[in-house]
Order: sequence, then structure tokens, then C-alpha cells
Amino acid sequence: MASSVKNEPRLRLRITAAAQAQVRAGHPWVFEGSISEQNRSARIGELAVIYDKADRFLAIGLYDPSSPIRVRLLHTGAPAVIDQSWWTNRLAEATSRRMNVFDVRTTGFRCIHGESDGWPGLVLDRYDATYVLKLYTGAWLPLLPKIVPLLTETFSPERIVLRLSRNISKLAAEHKKADGQIISGPELNEPVGFLESGISFEADVIRGQKTGFFLDQRENRRHVERLAAGRSVLNTFSFSGGFSLYAARGGAASVTDLDISAHALESARRNFKRNSDLPAVLACRHECIQADAFKWLKEAPKGKKFGLVVLDPPALAKRQSERPQALRAYEKLLAAGIGRLERGGILVAASCTAQITENEFFERARTAARASQRPFQELFTTAHPIDHPASFPEAKYLKCIYLKFL
Ligand code: SAH
Repeated sequence: MASSVKNEPRLRLRITAAAQAQVRAGHPWVFEGSISEQNRSARIGELAVIYDKADRFLAIGLYDPSSPIRVRLLHTGAPAVIDQSWWTNRLAEATSRRMNVFDVRTTGFRCIHGESDGWPGLVLDRYDATYVLKLYTGAWLPLLPKIVPLLTETFSPERIVLRLSRNISKLAAEHKKADGQIISGPELNEPVGFLESGISFEADVIRGQKTGFFLDQRENRRHVERLAAGRSVLNTFSFSGGFSLYAARGGAASVTDLDISAHALESARRNFKRNSDLPAVLACRHECIQADAFKWLKEAPKGKKFGLVVLDPPALAKRQSERPQALRAYEKLLAAGIGRLERGGILVAASCTAQITENEFFERARTAARASQRPFQELFTTAHPIDHPASFPEAKYLKCIYLKFL
């Protein structure tokens, strides 16, 4: 399976004591600076075997000379051969984790979620019969000829679309691969339709953000559906209206989608149309506002208030150095969101910034709530859904808090 050349010695690494401890504790990354010995230079996607000082096997992983995360671990513990049956078993583990979780009313969900599913830097999302394979490291590129048939055998997809994180597009070109390329199955000239909790959505799997839809918010959308009856709902950073459709089906009186992107709002409108056979959706007033949410929340007429406000901004920090400004942005957003709530209104505030911890975010939300000087009740908080497991600290990005104000 490894892309090694015949007669080339196996790629062997030793790592620092601190990195060894991390690996033994289950962390899936070995950083460039932790490698203390390497027997030869290596190509991207080669299997690297890591040994400890006493020459005992520690782990095996995918080597990536272009990334500071130099090795993404596939296996730790007892020595193992990474052959076809190993990959088959690894995939079966991911599929069994999702067994009996989704019924026929949910045909869009994540099948493989990177490191936390044992597939470091690789994501596979299902949208009905179309599967989207997204790579975050070029190390998977040489392995595609082995992996794609395995996915085809397991999922019997109509097509597989390849999506690539921006930093690997150059390398992908060398492998004759490009972002949005259909690597198996028929061409695609329109968004793909799929169901989430019985609601019909479209996803632009070729060009859309992430793999075309924010599948990680399904559980929070279900909560919003339960809380929305009779309320006017403001869905900020709405994207294609995910939260709005659930609110509408839950009996919201009106839903306002607010997004900076006209493209996203057009998709939200189409998603409402797709569900016009649902009486509650048909009865719900739907409005779109194209604006910067930070500005709109501050500058819209003071009297414009809502019974439920969803705040779901994009990640506000990409690196540790951006944390202070991200925290300030959340503070502003939370205060502005609370300011838009009627008496009895509910704030649903989510954060997908991995650099901000759950506690930091929830504390900001509680502080903003207290500062509003309105009595409030914390309803509950949520974290990762089952198809987006988070097995190590850096993988934990999603958190959401529900606050009700009198
Ligand atoms: N809540 C959505 C996902 C949000 S993704 C869902 O459930 O599907 C983040 C969205 O924020 C994107 O659609 C992006 O266009 C939008 N966005 C980014 N910056 C923005 C800003 N300053 N004001 C309003 N929308 C913004």
C-alpha cells in the first residue's frame, strides 16, 4: 500500500521523549520539530514507522514533508502491517460507528471524520448517492488508487467528488487531481439534493464551502426546530438556510436569513422552495437580508427584535495568535444577538473556532447574558454530533449554548 520504491529501506523515524508521550497518550500528530532521527528522505504519502529509543515499535503514519504536521498517525500499539485488509477493517470501524444512527430521512451525513475516525486529514461526506471525499493533506494523493475502490465497494456511490484544501492544490495537479473533480461516476451540473431529518436540501458539492453543507449542525438544527414554534427567527450567518428550514417546520411564524453572500441566500431560497410541500414551511414567512451580520445587528432599527436568534459565524481564528480578536468578536456578537431578543426570546450561539475552547466560549456567552441585566436561564449546551467525533483536543471545534431571556 505504501508508495515506496523497491529495495528502498523502510522509512524509520525516532521522535523526542515528549512526542513519544503524546503518541502513547493517543495524539494523532507528530510535528516536524519532534523528529530526532530519520533514516532517509521520503516522499509525501509514504508510510513512516516510528520507533522508541529501545527500538520498540511505537506507531505508523502518513509522512508529509510539506506540512509541519510531519506524520499523521494511522496506527499505534502493537506492530501492524498496513495492507488492504487493514484498510478494509479501518473503514468498517468508521461505518459501524454510524450504524443505525441515520434512517432514510437523513441521507446527508459524515461517513469519515478525519483523525478522530482513524483517517487523519481525510473526510468523506454522503449526500444521498453522491459522496464527497475531502483531503486536508497531500499524503492521501498517492493512496487514492487504493482508497477509492475501497470506498466504492463499501458505499456503492453513484459518484465521488474530490475536494481539496487550498494548500494542496498544486501538489494535486502533479497527481492530475483538482478541487471539485469527479473521480468516479457521472458528471454533475447542478447542486445535489439530499435529506436531513426529512427536510430536503441542496448542496453545491463541487464549489460550496466545506463539502457543500454544514452537516455538523444537524443536532443543533433539531433543537431549534423544537424551540421555534410561534417565534420570529433571525438566522445570522445563515448559509443555505439550514437552521431556518428546521425553524419553519417547527412552526416559526417567520424566519429571516442573514448572510453576507448572495449566493448563500439564493440557495436558502431554493431550499425553502424544495420543501413547500411541508405545510409549516409554506406557512412560514421567509425573508433574506444580504449584509454583514456584525454591522446589521448593530445598525438595524432598535425595534427590530426576534423570538429566537441563531448566531453561527464562520471560524473567527485560524491560528493561536488570532485568539484575542476572535474572543472580542464573539463578545460583540453575543451582546448584539441578546440585544435583538424580545422578552422570552432564545439565543442559540454556536462557535466552530477550534482555538477557542468550549469553556471560554460558554463563559463569554454567560458574561454577555449577565451584562444585559435581563433575567436569563441557561437551557443547555451541545458539542460534537456522533458523525463528527473529536478524539483529541485540537479536534474539538464545535460548541453551542442555548440561553432564554425574560
Ligand atoms: N449556519 C450555517 C453555516 C454557517 S457558515 C448552516 O447551518 O448551514 C458561515 C456563513 O457565514 C457563510 O454562509 C458565510 O457566507 C457567512 N458569513 C461570513 N462572514 C459573514 C459576515 N460578516 N456577515 C454575514 N455572514 C457572513
